[in-house]
Amino acid sequence: MTTQLYIDGIFVEPASGRSFPAVDPATESAFASVAAGNATDADRAVNAARHAFDDGRWSQLPVAERTAVLRQIAAGIRANLDEIAALETRDNGKPLPEAIWDIEDAAFCFDYYADLADAAEARGDTAVDVGDDRFDSRIRREPVGVVAAITPWNFPLLMAVWKVAPALAAGCTVVLKPSELCSLSCVELAKIIDAVGVPAGVFNLVTGSGPEAGAPLTEHALVDKVAFTGSVPTGRKVMQAAAAGIRTVSLELGGKSPFIVFADCDIDKAVEWILFGIFWNKGEVCSATSRVLVERRLYPRLLERLKSEAEKIVIGPGDQAGVKLGPIVSKNQYEKVMGFLDRAQHCGAQRLTGGGRPDGMETGYYIAPTIYADVPLDAEIWCEEVFGPVVCINPFDTEDEAISLANNGPFGLAGAVMSDDLERCDRVASRLRAGIIWVNCSQPTFIQAPWGGYKSSGIGRELGEAGFEAYRELKQITRFDHHETWGWYLGTENAQ
Ligand code: NAD
Repeated sequence: MTTQLYIDGIFVEPASGRSFPAVDPATESAFASVAAGNATDADRAVNAARHAFDDGRWSQLPVAERTAVLRQIAAGIRANLDEIAALETRDNGKPLPEAIWDIEDAAFCFDYYADLADAAEARGDTAVDVGDDRFDSRIRREPVGVVAAITPWNFPLLMAVWKVAPALAAGCTVVLKPSELCSLSCVELAKIIDAVGVPAGVFNLVTGSGPEAGAPLTEHALVDKVAFTGSVPTGRKVMQAAAAGIRTVSLELGGKSPFIVFADCDIDKAVEWILFGIFWNKGEVCSATSRVLVERRLYPRLLERLKSEAEKIVIGPGDQAGVKLGPIVSKNQYEKVMGFLDRAQHCGAQRLTGGGRPDGMETGYYIAPTIYADVPLDAEIWCEEVFGPVVCINPFDTEDEAISLANNGPFGLAGAVMSDDLERCDRVASRLRAGIIWVNCSQPTFIQAPWGGYKSSGIGRELGEAGFEAYRELKQITRFDHHETWGWYLGTENAQ
């Protein structure tokens, strides 16, 4: 199978005539070819999106018609759920049940934003009291315009849909550039969007590498907003490119999220959520709770339990029943994580389990669940995002110390706290400097609740109402009562 780009309502070959392989990380073999889009394709796609936006074929469509189309996309995703989830697992390596969660969420996301768009239409303009009866002032919300959406490989379809669904619901037009490592589920989305009859140019897909297909989108003068999810270094480049044209950007970037565990909690629950917090999706999760802080009283017992439970995790191809940890997404990412593990050997931390390729697994980019304890606070493995199944654990003595350790660092995407004392949980939640705080759990994510980071973890919010408003401009419309006279120039002095 060789994929095509989707530009102006047509599936087309890339201008380069080239493609690159999609590799199954469980077998290390190519199983499809992906169209290598470049600046020419990006330019064509942006022009198509610009034209489609400016002539109002989508933004001026009655909202009920637009939202009916969004619901058809949701239905189309659900109708193909098994195939898309299997493809996602093959492309990315994630366990199939986790891929199914992603695809179900993607479908729901279209329904959810259809509902929000309907509700916003029913509300209409918002009146503003400007304190002067002669003026009628109101706020109208309008689509931002042409959106370039650039997304990562860890939740390939879902991260794209977090942008595409609210953008389309708001009336924007979109050019999507998924990660070159996992593009195939987004090609399936393009097929569904095409099949339900979204007008040409409203949604465009340009697959390809970051520098060749992504960068031209961030620099394009006809793009109104760049919505980016990915790493901090690329986010910085995206923001720099957008600065040249004063384009709006939203950035969902990396993290090194803390999980504070107090000794009064149920140890089984702590073990469950710590493991889920770092090992689901192979630890390739921006919000993974990769730094765990445990109250000293519980520390030795918890370490023992974590080690023994982590060693029971079934590792294998994502499509195999019972597997809870699939292969790392790609050779490059595998080598990157292995590099962290190699360097960690000399940092003074104690490795409890894992640390490399699981015994007997020669093929596939597998890395065993890895736990480090007593990690020096300046160790690379404690400070930097690994983006793999690697967790660092340290003890603490007081609540203040835990919060200070948790807040130390450049990231602020997520954090978690576990204790039977709910007042304490709430207090800690308030003091953690992060956009998402989980109490007595880690990772559950809801389309209805805002998502995004403090500090270097990003700018702006996705999901929830905030994720819809991120694709709408605020327009002030202020009307002066035409029966009144202003009189500054034409009236008597001080008539105003
Ligand atoms: P990445 O930054 O390497 O790539 C992200 C996207 O940017 C890809 O589509 C890539 O092709 C593109 N890109 C690369 N260079 C570009 C350039 N110069 N201009 C424009 N686009 C360019 O990130 P990744 O490795 O795909 O994803 C992993 C990172 O994403 C991690 O740091 C993770 O924490 C982060 N992430 C964050 C969230 C969140 O919601 N905050 C969610 C998922 C992943």
